[in-house]
Amino acid sequence: MWQRLPTRDKLAGWGLNLPTNCLLCGTGSETSDHLFFSCNYSTEVWTSFFSQSSLSRPSVFPDVVDWVRTVTSSKKVKVIIKLIFQACIYFLWRERNSRLHSAMLKPSHVIQREIQLQIRARLLGLDWESYKALATRSASQSSYLTLWFEMFQPRKA
Ligand SMILES: [Zn+2]
Repeated sequence: MWQRLPTRDKLAGWGLNLPTNCLLCGTGSETSDHLFFSCNYSTEVWTSFFSQSSLSRPSVFPDVVDWVRTVTSSKKVKVIIKLIFQACIYFLWRERNSRLHSAMLKPSHVIQREIQLQIRARLLGLDWESYKALATRSASQSSYLTLWFEMFQPRKA
């Protein structure tokens, strides 16, 4: 997924004569690392999910895989972090494309909200699956949604 997206730096590298500025902030140049990581707009989206816990995401993408593997011993927290990453990348790329093809600009708090709703719906589904699988249910285990609200749900908005 990562380096395969046709960001503007790639298109310019293929000889296409296009503007290379970032569509989310308008100032940086659009590389994958900028668009999804160092861009102010993206950073606002990301940090909302990591401001509550002591977790802080790595600043460059190649470190993410190792970080997710080692950041916590909780399987469920790992699942939630992976979902946050997938959803942030997906929604940021979608917002970037919608800005390219239309004049619709969503502020970062709207994207944050969309990501939250998406993830919470997914976690509810996962909790329901583990509830049904009674054999593997342990009473002391927090549900995905409990962990979400304890650790990741942004306080404002
Ligand atoms: Zn940017």
